[in-house]
Amino acid sequence: MTDESNDHDTDDGPTSGESGPLDDSSSLLDRSGAGRSGTPDLDDIVLDNLDTGDEDASDEASRGLFDDLLEGEPIFENKEVLRPSYTPHKLPHREEQINNMATILVTALRGDTPSNILIYGKTGTGKTASAKFVSEELETTSQKYEVPCEVEYINCEVTDTQYRVLAQLANKFINKNLGVIEDRLADLSDLRSRARDDASVLAETSFASLDALEAEIDALEADRDEFEEVPMTGWPTDRVYSSFFDAVDYHERVVVIMLDEIDKLVEKSGDDTLYNLSRMNSELENSRVSIMGISNDLKFTDFLDPRVKSSLGEEEIVFPPYDANQLRDILQARADVAFKGDALSDDVIPLCAAFAAQEHGDARRALDLLRTAGELAERDQTDDVEEDHVRQAQEKIELDRVVEVVRTLPTQSKIVLFAIILLEKNGVRNINTGEVFNIYKNLCEEIDADVLTQRRVTDLISELDMLGIVNAVVVSKGRYGRTKEISLSVPTDETEAVLLSDSRLGDIEDVQPFVQARFDN
Ligand code: ADP
Ligand code: MG
Repeated sequence: MTDESNDHDTDDGPTSGESGPLDDSSSLLDRSGAGRSGTPDLDDIVLDNLDTGDEDASDEASRGLFDDLLEGEPIFENKEVLRPSYTPHKLPHREEQINNMATILVTALRGDTPSNILIYGKTGTGKTASAKFVSEELETTSQKYEVPCEVEYINCEVTDTQYRVLAQLANKFINKNLGVIEDRLADLSDLRSRARDDASVLAETSFASLDALEAEIDALEADRDEFEEVPMTGWPTDRVYSSFFDAVDYHERVVVIMLDEIDKLVEKSGDDTLYNLSRMNSELENSRVSIMGISNDLKFTDFLDPRVKSSLGEEEIVFPPYDANQLRDILQARADVAFKGDALSDDVIPLCAAFAAQEHGDARRALDLLRTAGELAERDQTDDVEEDHVRQAQEKIELDRVVEVVRTLPTQSKIVLFAIILLEKNGVRNINTGEVFNIYKNLCEEIDADVLTQRRVTDLISELDMLGIVNAVVVSKGRYGRTKEISLSVPTDETEAVLLSDSRLGDIEDVQPFVQARFDN
């Protein structure tokens, strides 16, 4: 039975009560139990409901899906605080980096152009959180002292082409300009009606006459009508650029453009955007632009035009990984707000910190661990988060990562990986590239996929190795030369289930003949 027919049965289940649906649903249970589904818990819940629906529905029906879960004492006081979207107001162990940023950017509050800044450090070292914190402070202070200084934040992982970056910036400034124009027009038309009654009110203004005032209003209205939103596709890029340029230069101000995940932009679309942005200042008349680039990877600067590289890196700020002690402080501060008073056992935070410190000092991982551990405890319906919940959370997060990586592999890599799994499942030891290639070739023929050369397949195996999915070691066979020995680094059944959930690979009906193929050569 294929996956698709099972899905179908689930949908039809409640209506086809009499004809023995239990058989079907129990086989479904087996499958989800084998880890085929991404969310086995939900499947289980749905199945439980099906069963009771068929038999003694009336008693249990009043106990809804959520009753048991609700009955446990809540562990969390405020779980949002542990989510990545939450921006903390205190960032322990980042004082130095935050002060460095502020020292450079304070120039903007004095009306001058700050140096461009390049920030780099591994993921989860607090770059985004610190940059957002500094930008909020900068804008608040600029409002307080009425200095025209604006910060625009762009996440280049989402906005990853020159067109989109420029269009997004253009539209932000166009909207800001329109806001300014509308405010000014409202003031001026108010002044105009007062001046019509009594022309002497103009004496305290910069307008010499009612005509001058009228002229200013007309000019503003013309400006307002001229600003046109940039569509998200379709214009030539230089038109988008000049829209942005004109919008920024509409009045005097210092603009700080934060380009987060800037390495993704360069990887996807090259350095044209940065080149254009970094040479703007020589042409702007009223405003000044300063760029703050944030990157997980310093190597991306190797791909930059030397002029862009030196301009972007006028100032560099490094975010080093956190050590376990620093991670403890970060977690403790969040946990105080996130959890009920004594929900955490003593060793929970140190263990989360220790795991995340191994993971290159990633605070995001530390927070994920703590949140997931809390959720697992919640699911156990206990009041305490224990060390064991952290260990389970670590496994769960690791497995989720693998599932996500495998799920998003290109089809060819999936077929290669599937070949390796088949060999392992059939007890083949010391798997070599040739063996993988033979099985791979047969699988491709079965599902009508292109067959790559053995050389390309070797490359794909190396990529799987770099992703941590397989382990490929080169072993010397003495005078017979060297060969690669390949083994799986991830759980076999779960990985296989993810691969088979791909509709193309799911078409592979019977895998046994392919394993035989390793002997054909
Ligand atoms: P990066 O941008 O370097 O990948 P983030 O700034 O997104 O890292 O930080 C990852 C997570 O860790 C976020 O939830 C952030 O709030 C938190 N975090 C990082 N550093 C600190 C810190 N020093 N104090 C409190 N929370 C932090
Ligand atoms: Mg970030």
